[in-house]
Amino acid sequence: MPEISIPTSLRHRPTVGGLVVPWITVQMPDGRYRFGAIDAERLQSAFINRLCQICGERMHRLFVFAMRDVDFERLITHEPAMHAECARYSTTACPMLAGSMTHYRAQATDTPSTGDPHGARPGHTAQSWLLLWTTGYRRILDPRTRTPAAEIPIELLRRVQRVNPPTSDQ
Ligand SMILES: [Zn+2]
Repeated sequence: MPEISIPTSLRHRPTVGGLVVPWITVQMPDGRYRFGAIDAERLQSAFINRLCQICGERMHRLFVFAMRDVDFERLITHEPAMHAECARYSTTACPMLAGSMTHYRAQATDTPSTGDPHGARPGHTAQSWLLLWTTGYRRILDPRTRTPAAEIPIELLRRVQRVNPPTSDQ
């Protein structure tokens, strides 16, 4: 895989195999990171304090959310937002971003009561994602999963961009 250049805003983050470890990633007691596992406290903190899930810094005025189509229908996501620059990096370093999100969903849907009304089981690859630029969001508890989530009021939505799934040549 070609080397992906790391933006200045992410230079303070540790890297593994040349890829930035997202701030929200679980760090194990021995110091290693569990890619794809979300630190629950950081998740909460990110939603509450409007922190970017990639760099851990505060966001102002502009929030970029990654959503699947099924999330987009409701404008609800369980993933905290990102800075535009961090989102750009993450979509380039796609295996990590997509990996983190699908794995997180795999855990989230393990909670009782689930059922997946859209039949979109997590963990399946080649999902396409949308990036949503917003000027704000509402912090909610997703009534379906009872997990922390962000809801985008439609009037705060500024731009939507489709991110193609990574090709399988990696
Ligand atoms: Zn950031």
